Amino acid sequence: MLKHNFSAGPCVLPQEVFKQAAAAVLDFNDLSILEISHRSKEFIGVMEKARALALEHLGLTDKGYVALYLSGGASMQFLMTAYNLLEHKAAYLETGTWSVKAIKEAQIFGKVEVVASSQSDNFNHIPKNYTVGDDVDYFHFQTNNTIYGTQLQHTPQVNVPLVCDMSSDILSRQRDFEKYDLIYAGAQKNMGPAGTTLVVVKEEILGKLTRKIPSMLDYKVHISKDSMFNTPPVFPIYVTMLTLEWLKANGGIAWIEKINQQKATLIYQEIDRNPLFKGFVTQPEDRSMMNATFSLHDVSLTDRFNNLVKEAGINGLNGHRSVGGYRASMYNALTLESVQVLVDVMKELERTV
Ligand SMILES: *Cc1c(COP(=O)(O)O)cnc(C)c1O
Repeated sequence: MLKHNFSAGPCVLPQEVFKQAAAAVLDFNDLSILEISHRSKEFIGVMEKARALALEHLGLTDKGYVALYLSGGASMQFLMTAYNLLEHKAAYLETGTWSVKAIKEAQIFGKVEVVASSQSDNFNHIPKNYTVGDDVDYFHFQTNNTIYGTQLQHTPQVNVPLVCDMSSDILSRQRDFEKYDLIYAGAQKNMGPAGTTLVVVKEEILGKLTRKIPSMLDYKVHISKDSMFNTPPVFPIYVTMLTLEWLKANGGIAWIEKINQQKATLIYQEIDRNPLFKGFVTQPEDRSMMNATFSLHDVSLTDRFNNLVKEAGINGLNGHRSVGGYRASMYNALTLESVQVLVDVMKELERTV
């Protein structure tokens, strides 16, 4: 079995979560978790715990927010956010492929103003020095650009509701979560298996527009049914709950952020030090703590490096096709030891050329 999973998503999860999840497939209160009714009191307990823990980790308990676990991935949220919130005009920050896709969906529902974009530089940095007018319904952006390895370090200061795709850095670091009005994140990048998407929404921003919204796409409908309007993805939600429990038992976001910082420092120091490699992101302050993108100066070393990577038991290191090179995704459950193994492989290549 490969030991070090740097895959960009679905991601590595804690070993104990895998074990608990496997045990529940065989026995969860005398049935399998795969066959229990979503209306059973056992599963309602799971759902309520998963919802409560998400708010607790983000520091948003009793602050007017609701947590939902929906289907359709973060991609569904590209359209659902606009369906529920965009009446006239919305502002979007274009920082990567996922922003482009979100913008495309939003344009179906209203006017979209792209306030800044780094597309002409293949998204190798986060654009700055833009303004968001007070006349827009909301401002949408991604905190972390999974494909390019860029990350926003600060929450943008604007006077309109903040709608944010945190798919690939949710629960990895502290942010001013109270400044956000809607946060969404596909579970498979940092929380659980593919199949459910966390949506945390401040209730007061909903119900303000005139259009009719189909029930399945209406946040208010899902809220009124406690995230059980239809059969929810039982198993992904259960595993997500286990990951949230694991995070809480170990010390929450404050604990994991320190480790994530150590992992990022370790890899970026090596990318900067090792003469064989170069980073993709041009502005050091934009580098992502979750996805480090880099490549070889000399592509003729590719086979040799790939072999060393494979021998070390490393999986999922190939960069996205739009960037090329390598991408080390260092989500919460990836250990510092795994990053050290990768760094040792980079040093080994340097020694042997
Ligand atoms: C992976 C990803 C998405 C798409 O998620 P799906 O769940 O596959 O729809 C959206 N945004 C970001 C930032 C991502 O990393």
